[in-house]
Amino acid sequence: MAELFKNLINGEWLAGASVSVNRNPSDTSDVVGEYAQADVAQTRTAIAAAGEAFGAWSTGSIQERANILDRAGNEIIARKDELGALLSREEGKTLPEGIGEAMRAGQIFKFFAGEVVRQSGEKLASVRPGVDIEITREPVGVVGLITPWNFPIAIPAWKIAPALAYGNTVVCKPADLVPGCAWAIADILVRASLPAGVFNLVMGRGSVVGETMVNHPDVAAISFTGSVSTGRALAAKAIARMAKVQLEMGGKNPLVVLDDADLAVAVNVAVQGSYFSTGQRCTASSRLIVTEGIHDRFVDAVVEKLKSLKVDNALTPGTDIGPVVDQSQLDQDMKYLEIGKAEGATLVVGGERVQRATEGFYMAPALFTGATNTMRIAREEIFGPVTAVLRVKNYDEALAVANDTEFGLASGIVTTSLKYSSHFKRHAQAGMVMVNLPTAGVDYHVPFGGRKGSSYGSREQGRYAAEFFTTVKTAYTAP
Ligand code: ADP
Repeated sequence: MAELFKNLINGEWLAGASVSVNRNPSDTSDVVGEYAQADVAQTRTAIAAAGEAFGAWSTGSIQERANILDRAGNEIIARKDELGALLSREEGKTLPEGIGEAMRAGQIFKFFAGEVVRQSGEKLASVRPGVDIEITREPVGVVGLITPWNFPIAIPAWKIAPALAYGNTVVCKPADLVPGCAWAIADILVRASLPAGVFNLVMGRGSVVGETMVNHPDVAAISFTGSVSTGRALAAKAIARMAKVQLEMGGKNPLVVLDDADLAVAVNVAVQGSYFSTGQRCTASSRLIVTEGIHDRFVDAVVEKLKSLKVDNALTPGTDIGPVVDQSQLDQDMKYLEIGKAEGATLVVGGERVQRATEGFYMAPALFTGATNTMRIAREEIFGPVTAVLRVKNYDEALAVANDTEFGLASGIVTTSLKYSSHFKRHAQAGMVMVNLPTAGVDYHVPFGGRKGSSYGSREQGRYAAEFFTTVKTAYTAP
């Protein structure tokens, strides 16, 4: 019998209306656990509990708040190997990637533990003599956090920690595919002595739990990370009732490689950015825009490198690339291989299903050449280990192609030229720009987010998270 993991509502662990089986994508016979699925009524109970808890939490001791977040961060870091293994087992990224992500979640909690006691306001003189003005930030209320499957511990952490740090109470709905890591955070928060109702974990379907949160009048703000279509639909509903909304959605992130690049750096940056975590990162490089002088050497070296990567069970030592997360994502990746070929691009390596000792969703990392920026494989987010090379004449064309996308999350360049790197940093139309570094892989203490179709609302992470999780008050005082 698999263990049943329950929802956390008002400090109590409650069974849901049904259960969902969490399976290991590296070995589909391995059941990670059974996880409660809430219905509408249970979701409403959680929202009510968060509403009840808000008064005391938002006005209580900030030292206590800081201590709780710090204790949670310490426990996550102390258990990073175990939590990283759980993450790799439920999501399929490799064990070192899983452990790294768990470490990062712990660091995020510790960062926001510090932010609790660093909150400050402004004091200004009024234009009316004798009057003082204070500008302060206050929590927004009950916040709903909806997270995707590709970063099962880091994304919940980077929403939960600032939400709590700035005095909000939380209802959190993790992705159906990977509830295990979010459940572990809930368990850790209980052990860190978080008061009942301040954090509620409501696992279940997006169309039930997520939908209820988005439409509920007592949820003041919704922070969502996931697909473009879900994000857009959800935002329309939340905005219609004047809720605050923050969306992180897709990307079609370009990596420009110029003739003057160090070839080894270019290959490393491209392969890491495009294929690590099985390419399932919203910041993954999925368009490699390469100038003609280095194009052939670059493609040959990337192909060589891809052939040497070990695709296998995420928990097996030495695995470079784990499985795709599930059958429907694998079907999507395969569909785009057919689309790319039909559009006239050349699949130069990979793309085949691979069999391993355990039954999982394994696929060899795939590279297209001869792609143009009008092809669907260069415009639509595939979200798998599939990347396309676009050949361009020079830097100017590379920049134009890089910016010719409806997305704007991350944009990278590999070059030894100060002139081009400086120009690119200024003119790349993206929320994050990387020079000689992979487009995926970011620090935990600085803002994360994009432009255009990638993001909506204010930035996540670092001090900039305060913008979303607080509301500004301007107070006037006459003597
Ligand atoms: P992904 O492809 O990453 O799973 P989704 O946008 O489908 O992206 O899911 C991201 C998160 O949004 C998940 O937690 C999912 O359950 C949730 N979700 C899906 N549909 C809805 C909805 N209609 N309302 C609110 N949340 C939803």
